[in-house]
Amino acid sequence: MSGIYIHIPFCKQACHYCDFHFSTSMRKKDEMVLALAKEIVVRKNEFENETVETIYFGGGTPSVLSNDEINFLISEVYKNYKVAENPEITLEANPDDLSSERIFELSKSPINRLSIGIQSFYEEDLKLMNRAHNSAEAKKCLEEAIKYFDNISLDLIYGIPGLSDEMWKKNIETALNFGIPHISSYALTVEPKTALSKLIQTGKIAAPQDEVASNHFMILVETLQKNGFIHYELSNFGKENYFSKNNSAYWLGKKYIGIGPSAHSYDGEKRGWNIANNSLYLKAIQNDELPIETEILTISDRYNEYIMTGLRTIWGVSLEKIENEFGLEYLNYLKKQSQKFLNDDLLSIENNILKPTPKGKFLTDGIASDLFYLNLED
Ligand code: SF4
Repeated sequence: MSGIYIHIPFCKQACHYCDFHFSTSMRKKDEMVLALAKEIVVRKNEFENETVETIYFGGGTPSVLSNDEINFLISEVYKNYKVAENPEITLEANPDDLSSERIFELSKSPINRLSIGIQSFYEEDLKLMNRAHNSAEAKKCLEEAIKYFDNISLDLIYGIPGLSDEMWKKNIETALNFGIPHISSYALTVEPKTALSKLIQTGKIAAPQDEVASNHFMILVETLQKNGFIHYELSNFGKENYFSKNNSAYWLGKKYIGIGPSAHSYDGEKRGWNIANNSLYLKAIQNDELPIETEILTISDRYNEYIMTGLRTIWGVSLEKIENEFGLEYLNYLKKQSQKFLNDDLLSIENNILKPTPKGKFLTDGIASDLFYLNLED
């Protein structure tokens, strides 16, 4: 199973918390679409023996592209790659781009999964985060989307300053009332150099509190599990048969090609990342160069990635796999490092699979970093 990720590096406005790569100027949009198509063609040899099972438009805001532009890029994938019969084709979209007409048009395109950036149904949260949509648009677009799409995911952010537990419960309830089969939910985090970080430093916005976020996370897990969602990755919840195939493939270490500025790629041995600058990306592609840097993963890198993704997902970390793929030294190291978390009931081992306990889930990233193999040479 392999995937193609296409990064659309444009947004209508900058959300205060965001540190992804995007530009708010659409001036180079046409040029960019042609460059993305060219990169799709140029890199086809990398997938000579692969079947593409997922295509994912991420960003940025992919819904700023017209349907013709999206269809053009999908057709370039079909022309140049072997594509599975029923691939999952996801479009990340923002509510302000999803008018009824647009949703109807999209339903006639090869896109078969929408991932909608709702984030919150409260006006004050959307304003605080500087989202381009309002609460009415968030609800309206979902009402329309469920008429035409069965596979929909929505994003919700918790831990927003001012968002009480009661308000958070209501946000989840509102989402559930639409019957959406997949929810991705993240804590609001303060990344360096973002507008949010400046607003907090200057006292204009209160800093998010870990304790509040941790409570919101517990409410989220409990409510969604009660409503038939499977908590299959730390930030992702899906009904049976509605897990994101694209993201699951990343977490299971499958190959993917990342097209566009800042997009990452993985071929099983090395990771690559395209330059995160629209002008330099365009210039390179127009000069027949691939603006990509690559790094061959060491055994420790691969072990660390497996620990991180294994602990974050429902599949856990297989101790057998650690021994077979990385060797006894890594297995013994992992056992030694996990002991204190096992004693504190933050990790458990069942059927030779290491996983966080319900108590340890919210601390997963911190626990994983304590299990990383840092100082040994390969
Ligand atoms: S729309 Fe998404 S990518 Fe664009 S600024 Fe907001 S969070 Fe970032």
